[in-house]
Amino acid sequence: MQSLQSSIASALWSYFSIICSIPHPSKHEDKISNWILTWAKEKRIHCVQDHAGNLILNKSASSEYEHNTPVILQAHLDMVPQKNNDVEHDFQTDAIQTEIKGDWLHAKNTTLGADNGIGMASCLAVLADNTLKHGPLEVLLTTCEEAGMIGAFGLKTGALKGKILLNTDSEDEGELYVGCAGGININSSISFDMMAIDSTHIAFQISLTGLKGGHSGCDIHLGRANAIKVIASTLINIDTIPFSLVNIQGGSLRNAIPREASAKIVCRKKDKKNLEELIDNLNIELINQFSNSEENLSLTITSINLPKYVLTNSSQKNILTCLNECQNGIYSMDNNFTDVVQTSSNLGVLTQDNETKEFKIKVLLRSQVAVEKDNMSTTIRAHFEKFNAKVILDGEYPGWEPNMDSAIYKVMEAQYKKLFNKTPKTMVIHAGLECGLFSKKYPEWDMISFGPTIMFPHSPDEKVNISTVDKFWQLLIATLAAIE
Ligand SMILES: [Zn+2]
Repeated sequence: MQSLQSSIASALWSYFSIICSIPHPSKHEDKISNWILTWAKEKRIHCVQDHAGNLILNKSASSEYEHNTPVILQAHLDMVPQKNNDVEHDFQTDAIQTEIKGDWLHAKNTTLGADNGIGMASCLAVLADNTLKHGPLEVLLTTCEEAGMIGAFGLKTGALKGKILLNTDSEDEGELYVGCAGGININSSISFDMMAIDSTHIAFQISLTGLKGGHSGCDIHLGRANAIKVIASTLINIDTIPFSLVNIQGGSLRNAIPREASAKIVCRKKDKKNLEELIDNLNIELINQFSNSEENLSLTITSINLPKYVLTNSSQKNILTCLNECQNGIYSMDNNFTDVVQTSSNLGVLTQDNETKEFKIKVLLRSQVAVEKDNMSTTIRAHFEKFNAKVILDGEYPGWEPNMDSAIYKVMEAQYKKLFNKTPKTMVIHAGLECGLFSKKYPEWDMISFGPTIMFPHSPDEKVNISTVDKFWQLLIATLAAIE
């Protein structure tokens, strides 16, 4: 990161370079935490580690700022460990290798950890720089944000004295976040029965591929196809030909829009041609239906070996109707902000277990409004129960309801305008931030979230825009100096 040393944010970049050299995947934050504990001791910065592994560092106010509102600057310690299949990389021992391409910093074939390593580096750079102006300052570095927000869940009420929290974990420079969605997992299992099939039949696999997928919160408004919903409706649309379902599955992660789904079916030999034609026609219809959002959608049919068992008629009808009629996607929009989804659900994963004879369906429901989240989870639960599902709700985390009178928002907005001669966008994020959990433990905190522009976080394509890191740093230090 040689050429970054001359930038305005050079101190931040130096710390980010150190962070990249110390492994810190989720659930393995001990190495980075120990490095920070040692570093703080050398710099005579008070630092404690709580029972959840979170680090809390203190720095006294600069002179004449002693009576200003105490501030908490916050980031998470962990990064998502993802790599391309063809590379060797051990996230628990190996350093992240970086490279600069134009105005972007990338990692070589792995996630970069700019989410939230840049935020963490900014915290350390603020602590280390005694020329900056600010009131009494605490830095909160949380563990395991990316895998269940464990640190934020474990944070104790009363552990921090600050009244304003600056969260550095959002990913679009020029946008200031004042709220986020909460979420809840809806897990359903539906039993099925199977019966033997005779050898007068033939079998096929119908596959839906090439969909874009994406983040189940941030991308849910883009009109992308949900592979599980589409495969279910496809099967319902071919019922002019008698067929039996053998297997249906799709998706891989609850919090990703499913990109692929497939079904295995059997039908009478004489229907082969009709079925193939029908699938070809449905492929064209789907391409037209999703022409604005999916360029590579493909529905194909291939012959497979005849299996011994198929679902009974009633089990087949039960699962297909259940999937087809299940609420999915946007439920309501947020009236206070343009183009922001308020409540949505994502039917993310469908698996079929022939040992236990159960379908498992994973849905993630998100909402900025707690009451609407409760209502919607009741509705979706009732839907699955109508199809004899066993339903378990878990993994609930609270949202952060926007405060339209936030004082820190006004301060940061004014600093942004002064620095860049532009009004920042006020946003709420239709995804989880630790601020949701903080708002339950410290309801008096006035919070804001901001950050540099990071693209494709959580994937090996992750990259951070270098110029926006400079702007993020300028805005951070100007805001700290402007808080009264
Ligand atoms: Zn993050």
